[in-house]
This record gives sequence, structure tokens and C-alpha cells, in this order.
Amino acid sequence: MSSQHAVTLRPGDALVIVDVQNDFLPGGSLPVPEGDLVIPALNKAIFLFREDSLPIVASRDWHPENHCSFQSQGGPWPVHCVAGSEGAGFPPTLDLPCSAVIVSKGTEPGHEAYSAFDQTGLAETLRKMGVKRLVTGGLATDYCVLHTVQDALKEGFQVVLLTDAIRAVEVSPGDGERAVAEMVRLGAQTATVEDLKRGAARLPRHG
Ligand SMILES: [Zn+2]
Repeated sequence: MSSQHAVTLRPGDALVIVDVQNDFLPGGSLPVPEGDLVIPALNKAIFLFREDSLPIVASRDWHPENHCSFQSQGGPWPVHCVAGSEGAGFPPTLDLPCSAVIVSKGTEPGHEAYSAFDQTGLAETLRKMGVKRLVTGGLATDYCVLHTVQDALKEGFQVVLLTDAIRAVEVSPGDGERAVAEMVRLGAQTATVEDLKRGAARLPRHG
């Protein structure tokens, strides 16, 4: 996916990092192919957002041991991201600041939550912070990123999808591409991390 335009960061923007957790990286229990490659891209975005003092949100799967999405419970996935486990942790290579807002989802045994908005209060949290537009990336394109972006748009937020900061599970080949097409169809703008520019809003403007 090629990028279109520079995206100038401004007040009202938030960076939303979806489920970049050890279990979704190579070596984890539910690895997303090349999942680790989102980290350098996201770190660049984190740097820009920190420089402009804009909020950073990180969602995480935070499942009980008997979560309904696990194969042991009849679900589709191997055990992953059990709350408090190393697999549920954020990788140390991700430069998450301690000021980041952490959103835990899928915390109830009987409820699956691909979306960071699903029973987390995230929409309300973002509105309270004055957020209007989400710049987002993470794992995986065809599940939690897709559902998070769908809900963000439903909730009335603008979305910039960082196409170099996402990777797909691809249970069926092409799932990732189809997910990106669907997010664009619903109104998401695509950009790469290189398209992000720091706040012109901070520079004095004359004339
Ligand atoms: Zn999960």
C-alpha cells in the first residue's frame, strides 16, 4: 500500500498501538509473521508523538486462563496473552513511555474482544483527552487492528492507518490486504510512518 500525503500531527491526535505483545511476535505462542517488523516503525511514531506531547495508547489482549478464544475452550486460537504472563507483556524493544494509556481487553472468560474499544471505555477516554483522530498500527491487521479501526470510525474518530506498522495473521492468504481495503472503504486514511510530520500547529504562523 503506497502512501498518499504527509500527515501533520496536531492537537487532537493520538497514537493507538494495537496488541504489540510478546505472544504475537516471532517466538510467541500466536506469532504474526514478521510481527516484530512493526516495532521500529512504531518507535518512530512514538518518538514524534512524544516530541509533540500527544497521547499514546497501547492496547493489549489480557485474557484469563480459560478464555473462550482458546482452543482448549473450543475457540480458534492457541493459548495467548494470559494476563500477567510474559507472553502478554509488551516487548522491551517497543519504546512505550510510562505515560502511555494501557487498554486491557478480552479480560472476561466468555467474551472475545478483537477491538480495543470493546468493553474498555476507550472511546470515552479518548474523548475526555480531546482526541479526534487516531494514528494507528500494530497486530494483527486482519483481526485486532481491523476491528479497532472499524469501531474507531463508528465512534466518530478519524483514522490514519500506518501501513508500514501493521502485519497480518493471514489464516487465508490475502486477509491482510482485504482488511486494509475494508478499512479504507470505511474511511481510514493510509500513510506510512515516514509521512508523519511533527506539529506545524506549534510553529508560529504569520500572514
Ligand atoms: Zn486474544
